[in-house]
Amino acid sequence: MTMACHCKGCQRMTASAFSLSALFPQESVEIEGLQPVIGGLHGELRHHFCPHCLSWIFTRADMLGPLINIRSTMLESTAELPPFIETCVSEKLPWVTVPARHSYAQFPPMDDFPKLMGEFAETCG
Ligand SMILES: [Zn+2]
Repeated sequence: MTMACHCKGCQRMTASAFSLSALFPQESVEIEGLQPVIGGLHGELRHHFCPHCLSWIFTRADMLGPLINIRSTMLESTAELPPFIETCVSEKLPWVTVPARHSYAQFPPMDDFPKLMGEFAETCG
């Protein structure tokens, strides 16, 4: 499921207005080559960066359960991955608009994820 996050942390880490990402099941992702390093805002969310260019690649967190949140700008198909949901719109810069179908003031409750991911798979997957 694709997302745009407008939180202040994402604004600072991307040096931009929001971050773009896509959730994948962890078992479908294999990390090869250089081992990523933890960086960015150190907290419950573990942000992994390329050890060479220090670009933000993906995020893992206990709250994400078996999912890994990959920066969709790192994928070849970024243009085909518009954000399906947007999060932290309470922190959104006032001049930003994204084509997300669902907007959340903070993050969606975890209970919403199965429904959202099902809808994403049906309509966008
Ligand atoms: Zn964020």
